[in-house]
Amino acid sequence: MKKLLLCLLVLLLCACSKNVYKELGYSKKEIKVIEGFKLENQRFFNEHNEFLSSLLNNENIIEDNLELYIEYHDLIKEKDVVALVNSKVLREDNYERVKDLTNIEGYKEENLEKYLSNYKRNDSLLVKYVNEDNMDGYYLAFKLSKDKYFVERNLDLYLKYYDQKDNIRDLIEYINSKVYLPPYEDEELADVDKYGYQVLVNKYYKLPSDYEPDDLVKVESNYGVGYLRQQAYEAYKKMQDDAYEQGISMYITSPYRSYNTQYVLYNRYLNEDPVEVVDTYSARPGNSEHQLGLAVDILTPGYNFGTFYSAPAAQWLEENAHKYGFIFRYPAEKIDITGYKYEPWHYRYVGDIATSVYESGITYDEYFEKYIKDN
Ligand SMILES: [Zn+2]
Repeated sequence: MKKLLLCLLVLLLCACSKNVYKELGYSKKEIKVIEGFKLENQRFFNEHNEFLSSLLNNENIIEDNLELYIEYHDLIKEKDVVALVNSKVLREDNYERVKDLTNIEGYKEENLEKYLSNYKRNDSLLVKYVNEDNMDGYYLAFKLSKDKYFVERNLDLYLKYYDQKDNIRDLIEYINSKVYLPPYEDEELADVDKYGYQVLVNKYYKLPSDYEPDDLVKVESNYGVGYLRQQAYEAYKKMQDDAYEQGISMYITSPYRSYNTQYVLYNRYLNEDPVEVVDTYSARPGNSEHQLGLAVDILTPGYNFGTFYSAPAAQWLEENAHKYGFIFRYPAEKIDITGYKYEPWHYRYVGDIATSVYESGITYDEYFEKYIKDN
């Protein structure tokens, strides 16, 4: 009796499930295929759509891959998802990668296998180069993209100047810092409104002649002379006080300079030296960080600009200024990048990114291009 009841129950269940699939819209043939699957796999057909039907009529389906076919179906629109899963182009462990690729502008499904087989790291480069059928270009671009300071919007420039530099680091530094351009031509605006304390002023970024900070404060006589922007001045005072406690004396000898002051200064130098020489030690009007009210020339008693490099204060500043928001702007080993000779006395306030700039070891010219501009 028990046995009979159990038989009836099984028959009833079978009939029910048959009805369910039938009601969902599966054909007799399709239901037969579903019933051939393990119970745990039959659950995939508890709904009905065109794709699920097509799966059941595809003679290449492999039961173990059912879940992947269904999962990838949302990402793969034109290609044969069954064939791609069966050939292991699409796998469980690269679903996120495929998903990322499909979100990149320019992605073409026809190139999917190529993207995946050449996949290293940089998805958007990959899509661009595979689409152009230029794999050599991709490998070079990929090599470049491994440099820590690679900036994708500069890629065409890196490639253009690739042969001119011995190594990738030098190449990327050369482009990022704009040194490949002739200085003072087609300068960009040094946009204080946009970048605040992080604004870049150099031979490629120029301040308007009428730019004057509106929060300049007078430097008290025990800290030096002239004017500085409030926040830079507060930071400077703390730096000088802390240095003093550690036995290091210093003072500001040159802080804010107006456009006109710089104009007079630069032209006076032109009476003494040829322009190529003057440009290595004096900024042109509009190209001076001093016009920002964020730069200071620092000296220490008993030393002048010619000897300051050997003063304990010079070393102290190099090691500590970043803790107060100041960066050492013109190092001896970066003359080719900054365009200025070694200036151990010149410090620039950039605020709380100073430690990050210090630790990077790159010039602010390059740091700005990588981390600040358009970010
Ligand atoms: Zn200076």
